[in-house]
Amino acid sequence: MPEYNLNLPIINQDTKAFWEGCTRHELLIQKCKDCNNFRFEPAAICPHCISSNYSWEKVSGKGTVYSYVVYRQAPQPSWASMVPYVIALVELQDCGVKMITNIVDCTPEDVKIDMEVEVVFEYATEEISIPRFKPV
Ligand SMILES: [Zn+2]
Repeated sequence: MPEYNLNLPIINQDTKAFWEGCTRHELLIQKCKDCNNFRFEPAAICPHCISSNYSWEKVSGKGTVYSYVVYRQAPQPSWASMVPYVIALVELQDCGVKMITNIVDCTPEDVKIDMEVEVVFEYATEEISIPRFKPV
């Protein structure tokens, strides 16, 4: 595996199950057991009803581009080889939550609002794979 030089996520007790799912190439989203709303990013309590009861639901990883920007300058030296790249808000088909992510496997000019995408998992370390999205 090539060395992963980009920033790694900080894993805590609220995000641990999410990142463990990504390592298995499963996209897990929290669902409140009291009001049934999905939420992202992972959090200890529901932003809708403040319940701390939740489950992790495996979703398909299919979604659409809700919005995006193209970065043409690297925010940090480690990202220099990545530019230009796309940071997008992807709305997940199964649960309606929006994830901040990257669109990969296409040029920034190929990315369009409402474009159908699906998750891919980029190996970073043995404990972490990063969910990004590619065109369907
Ligand atoms: Zn709730």
